[in-house]
Amino acid sequence: MDDCLFCKIVAEEIPSHKIYEDEKFLAFLDINPINKGHILVIPKKHSRNILEMKDSLSGELMILVKKLATHIKNKLNADGINITINNEADAGQIIFHTHIHIIPRFKNDGFKHWNGIAYPKGEAEKIQSILKLN
Ligand code: 5GP
Ligand code: ZN
Repeated sequence: MDDCLFCKIVAEEIPSHKIYEDEKFLAFLDINPINKGHILVIPKKHSRNILEMKDSLSGELMILVKKLATHIKNKLNADGINITINNEADAGQIIFHTHIHIIPRFKNDGFKHWNGIAYPKGEAEKIQSILKLN
């Protein structure tokens, strides 16, 4: 993809602080970290997001993400780790090349999760019947 920022990082046309690299994947520091050590893990082969990625590759990607998350947690002595994937603009995706955020978290670092709202009576059953897959 000619105009993809992360493809340019893979091609080293744009510099990055690499943490890990093999023939299929690359992990590097996010330029605007939530906490120091926040990284992005990407497949080198372009896909728009995780929903459009080959199953076999996304399986391998998750194994690598688990390994890197454990590594970061240990090395930075983090209290927790967020692993997040934003898919499509309305879900917060800004860069349209598949990437997984690994974010080290520390007690009292001040970052908050979104607030959930309980289902009104009967709604959970309606959504369940729409979504049930088997
Ligand atoms: P998204 O919202 O698409 O899930 O996240 C994209 C991430 O890419 C953001 O956290 C942003 O800080 C990061 N980012 C954007 N441009 C660059 C860049 O040129 N280099 C690096 N290392 N990260 C970038
Ligand atoms: Zn790309």
